[in-house]
Amino acid sequence: MAVKTSKKAKIKFDKSEAAMRVKKIWPILKKTYPDAKSALNFKDPLQMLIATILSAQCTDARVNIVTSNVFKKYKSAADWAKADLKHIESDIRSTGFYRNKAANIKNASKVIIEQFDGKVPDTMEELVSLPGVGRKTANVVLGSAFGRPAIACDTHVIRLSRRLGLSANSDPVKLEFDLAEILPKRIWTVFSHALILHGRAICKARKPDCDNCPISKYCPAAFKPDLW
Ligand code: SF4
Repeated sequence: MAVKTSKKAKIKFDKSEAAMRVKKIWPILKKTYPDAKSALNFKDPLQMLIATILSAQCTDARVNIVTSNVFKKYKSAADWAKADLKHIESDIRSTGFYRNKAANIKNASKVIIEQFDGKVPDTMEELVSLPGVGRKTANVVLGSAFGRPAIACDTHVIRLSRRLGLSANSDPVKLEFDLAEILPKRIWTVFSHALILHGRAICKARKPDCDNCPISKYCPAAFKPDLW
């Protein structure tokens, strides 16, 4: 019986080449996406934490519609912690996976009150101790709400980093550490936001628009479907 082989070519990764590539592509990405930042609306770290939890498997636009209402109703961690779980579920239902999300928001809020004096903590270690908060969510909060250097590896960051040869890993934590080694720390947050925007606009999952990509000259996957 013939053995089925994958047509997908192996991503090549060389750390020094990847670092050189970042030097070439970053000025172009920065110019292309001068206002790269999170598309989620928030006014404080708690709102950012809640919005990020809600954004799992949901569009930022939908999350913004939902948070424009719920942030008027629940103004503090105490409001979320004491709210009836069924009410939270109903308020966030349209973001999907609402039962898990509601439980995580309520439980995380309880921990924020009991262990962090009602304030969202500002370290990775403390953030990931909150129920339902993983490294990706913690990095979003650290980068966007606290202005700390942070690389949030969402689906776009993973896909583009691999295509651009900045990492051969698809595991988000390993990929985050690869990027941390080759990116200057001062651009960690903004670089990941620029990759997200580029992934949404040009380097889409199924059919990247390499013809109109301003960084195609430096991209090892340009016009190579076997590397997508
Ligand atoms: S050249 Fe193509 S594969 Fe590479 S980043 Fe641009 S759109 Fe994506």
